[in-house]
Amino acid sequence: MNSIYDYSLSKLTELLLELGYKKFNAIQIYEWLYKKRVKSFDEMTNIKKELIEYLKEHYVISSIKIINKQEDTDVCKYLFNLSDNQKVEAVYMKHDYGNSLCISTQVGCNMGCAFCESGRLKKVRNLKSSELIEQILMIEENLKLRITHLVLMGIGEPFDNYENVMNFIDIVNDPKGIELGSRHITISTSGLVPKIKEFTNEPKQVNLAISLHAPNNEIRNKIMPVNKAYPLEVLMQAVKEYIKITNRRVTFEYIMISDVNDHDKEALELAHLLKGMNCYVNLIPYNETSHIEFKKSSKERILAFYDILKKNGINVTIRREFGSKVDAACGQLRANYEEGK
Ligand code: SAH
Ligand code: SF4
Repeated sequence: MNSIYDYSLSKLTELLLELGYKKFNAIQIYEWLYKKRVKSFDEMTNIKKELIEYLKEHYVISSIKIINKQEDTDVCKYLFNLSDNQKVEAVYMKHDYGNSLCISTQVGCNMGCAFCESGRLKKVRNLKSSELIEQILMIEENLKLRITHLVLMGIGEPFDNYENVMNFIDIVNDPKGIELGSRHITISTSGLVPKIKEFTNEPKQVNLAISLHAPNNEIRNKIMPVNKAYPLEVLMQAVKEYIKITNRRVTFEYIMISDVNDHDKEALELAHLLKGMNCYVNLIPYNETSHIEFKKSSKERILAFYDILKKNGINVTIRREFGSKVDAACGQLRANYEEGK
């Protein structure tokens, strides 16, 4: 059965008007779902009985369950079981600027990045908008707090599930719903250029992050197969166009993998590649996983890389490391769970 959480307010309004109800009924339902957070249609006490019956017959509310939770200082990682028994994960992180949540967008991922656990498990299916929404709702309920910042950086390639992700953003953004500001939402992509172009023209104020991880095609081809379809020069052109049209700053994510992409030479190349762009670089210490041989760069290496970028006028930060005690790398909790069965 479909989930009522798949409906943006405009689509729900359309549905209700078609059924002969009023626009304000859609708003009432939205408030029950997202402000009062009810779990059954019967609790919607100001809605007509026959409409309740219709909703019960055609829709479910909740469809996903938390089946595992790992906690560490300022971090909490969740594994969800979906209605077809697929598993995805989400990670809550407490920052000084707020409560951030990283959610999954697909079961598995087809992009095949050499360093990534999620890519080891091929895509099974896209997540529905409702399954994205529920990751937020369940964790807010579990931790008894409100998420203030959202990143689409869990399992999956968000731009390979474009429609559901855009619909999800409309839902999560709605002032009558969860009301998470688009400026506090970040979508991360490995570089699907046609979708970056489409996204450039969306009337949304959502942040864009690009998983770059290499300053040249030679290295990028080795670790990210997507680069063979959309090489760096094509990707950078699309990102420059995005910045020009939206006037928004782009984040480049750069995982620091020992002896793969972390030499001085690559730092200089990266500085050259990004010179003059409205962007910043987020250096991410690689999260080692038992299934993949890559090692993380040493602290000294990361700092040296950082210094070179800084000296060359690039805005750069080093991502704080979270949760070495939890399986913190993207896709790890799910991978370990599937294997441990
Ligand atoms: N598919 C999208 C979003 C999900 S991956 C993308 O690739 O951008 C989110 C981020 O986690 C990406 O930057 C990805 O490269 C990074 N990542 C994957 N495995 C990692 C690991 N083991 N350690 C650190 N970062 C990792
Ligand atoms: Fe997919 Fe992103 Fe992992 Fe690459 S890094 S395999 S695109 S989830």
